[in-house]
Amino acid sequence: MANIKEEKLRKLKYSYIGGSLVCGIIIGAIVICTFVSMIAVFGLYIVDSKIRDEYERVRSMADIYQVSQDIPGNDLMNSLGNVSYEYIVVDDNRNIIEVHGNNTCDMEHGGRIDILEFMDDEDVPGQDRQQRIESMVERTRDNAITVYPDIDKSIITPGTNGRVSVDLLKLRDIIMSYGEGGESLSIGQNFIIKLPFWMEVPVGANSHMICKTYFNIYFRELAILGLLSVIVTVLTFVTGIFLLVYIIRAVSNRHKMSDIFFMDETTGQHNWLWFLMNAEKELAQKRSADRNYAVLDVEFVNYRNFCVCHSVDEGGKMLRQINDRIQGHLGKGELVAHHSVSHFAVLTVCSDRNGLEARIRGIIGDLEHVSEDHKFYYWVGVDTIPESRDEKGKVVRRKNIDVEKAFNNAGAARATLSVENSDIAFFDEKMVEEQRWIDVINENQLRALENEEFVVYYQPKYDPRTEELKGAEALIRWMSPQNGMISPGRFIPIFEKNGFITCIDHYMLDHVARDQRRWLDNGFKCVPVSVNVSRAHFIEADLAEQIKDIVDAAGTPHDLIEIELTESAFFDDKNALISIIRKLKEYGFTVSMDDFGSGYSSLNSLKEMPLDVLKLDADFFRNDEGDGRGQIVVSEAIRLAKNLNMRTVAEGVEEKSQVDFLAEQGCDMIQGFYFAKPMPKEEYELKM
Ligand code: C2E
Ligand code: MG
Ligand code: MG
Repeated sequence: MANIKEEKLRKLKYSYIGGSLVCGIIIGAIVICTFVSMIAVFGLYIVDSKIRDEYERVRSMADIYQVSQDIPGNDLMNSLGNVSYEYIVVDDNRNIIEVHGNNTCDMEHGGRIDILEFMDDEDVPGQDRQQRIESMVERTRDNAITVYPDIDKSIITPGTNGRVSVDLLKLRDIIMSYGEGGESLSIGQNFIIKLPFWMEVPVGANSHMICKTYFNIYFRELAILGLLSVIVTVLTFVTGIFLLVYIIRAVSNRHKMSDIFFMDETTGQHNWLWFLMNAEKELAQKRSADRNYAVLDVEFVNYRNFCVCHSVDEGGKMLRQINDRIQGHLGKGELVAHHSVSHFAVLTVCSDRNGLEARIRGIIGDLEHVSEDHKFYYWVGVDTIPESRDEKGKVVRRKNIDVEKAFNNAGAARATLSVENSDIAFFDEKMVEEQRWIDVINENQLRALENEEFVVYYQPKYDPRTEELKGAEALIRWMSPQNGMISPGRFIPIFEKNGFITCIDHYMLDHVARDQRRWLDNGFKCVPVSVNVSRAHFIEADLAEQIKDIVDAAGTPHDLIEIELTESAFFDDKNALISIIRKLKEYGFTVSMDDFGSGYSSLNSLKEMPLDVLKLDADFFRNDEGDGRGQIVVSEAIRLAKNLNMRTVAEGVEEKSQVDFLAEQGCDMIQGFYFAKPMPKEEYELKM
């Protein structure tokens, strides 16, 4: 889930800034290109029309010259003497025939120049538009004029294939330098810049007139060009500013958006998504490849109680302080974020397990006193991420980092903790195995019950003095077709957690009651059989009635059934338990306390509960140091039970000396491997 969110956010971030940037650049480019091309078209139009005008002038001059040549003795050219013009007349081989005025023509670098629509674009009847354009291009090529640069100064630049062009960049430079006092420019009244060049027109059959002419730039043209340039500059500037502001705003909005997105509502600090993204980034760094890391799931165990006693707001304040305290313990490259309710995710660098454990204990020690009035406790699950090396042992960047999985593993380790104190649990492969086993059990339990894969084994109880059979305990075995015989220690705790234990206990009671009935009917000398009833049943107020109904359904006398309650049941609702025990006794069942002495035995519960039998836990008879202390406790427990009118059963007795000792102390029954192990009912029948 987090990954999907993370991916979407990443895309949004880049589309947000990238989209804005691309749009801005496109709009800016369109605006600027439009204006630059407007200027260019305008400039080209001016250049084109000027050269065309000049051609018309030179052509007229050539016509006059022609006339003056054709009519000998006429004074037509001389009559133009007052007009300032210079020209050269050359033959087809470029030999100068006549020079008028100052010859500054650079005949070496001349060439032809194309002026589109140089000729009049007359409509020829019958020609369509396409044909007209083609004929115009043809005429332009045919009638391209020959021009020459002036030695002093010219904007005519030689090109390839005998062609020349007007150098617009040079023209621009000349115009720009005009204001700085371009000394070679001719400045007149109507125009401000005159740039000389020479233009050739044919005169008669074999000669050509090369006439000096000028590229005139008028003030109004300059003004329009200047205005356009200013507009382009201003537009470029405005677009640039607009773009810049837009990008800055986009970036700052992105930061604000990220802050909100990555903020945890409760602590006001970072949230889980931020942790995921940053932890992965940190672990993927090259510099972190040779370091060991650990992902922690830190649970503030007292959170719910604290909220109940104070308020959710106060609880939130505590979470904020815890977040800050943890942060205070972290260094560079280490992260903390609030995960959910009372959980924090932490990424730490660690050297070795002992060092890490000591460090976590230090952090917990500080967190326990986050409130002045309370001492809190914390459960910390740890999953380690080792340094990253390739097959040759070389340190390499981490790939396929899965922080979510590491946190989940840490959570699984944390979930194994149940002590009412701060504690740490490390995740390992055994846990994976355990989890797999739990899954197998969960998947198969119902089918196993329906297929009667659960089988009752009986473990006899004997009188230690007479060695006479006095009773038995029904113990479950799972005959699984896939896994063989499974002992209860491997599945009962799982059933207790998932609630299936209630079905199992009913199933066992039903089978035992029916076995007893059958044995009675077959003339066996039956003894009471005890059935374990888990503490999970004690939430059912009608438990005693349920037991009675099951036994009655089999038609078994109640005195042949004993109910064993584990010691832990005595810590639940005491009144409910007393009432159930009373009812069971009223119905004629024997009630015993199983595993007395295995945990936190409460003598008080012995005082309050009207029990019939006390089963001394097997632990009494194991690990006896031989200093006699164990024996003292056992003999006192037996005496106490006797004084309370309870019978005693010693469990887990394996040796003769223990049997003798218990017989001496007046223990009523012994259930242990010394006499017999739990056995199938067929074998038990033989014992009866
Ligand atoms: P428990 O009720 O205290 O049963 C006694 C356990 O001690 C049995 O283990 C038995 O085999 C074992 N035991 C008896 N004598 C000796 C001995 O001399 N040496 C050793 N090493 N062990 C001895 P088991 O059958 O594995 O059962 C374990 C526990 O599973 C039981 O402890 C009980 O708490 C639970 N359990 C078994 N069947 C049921 C059931 O049908 N319902 C419920 N709720 N729990 C059951
Ligand atoms: Mg038992
Ligand atoms: Mg027991």
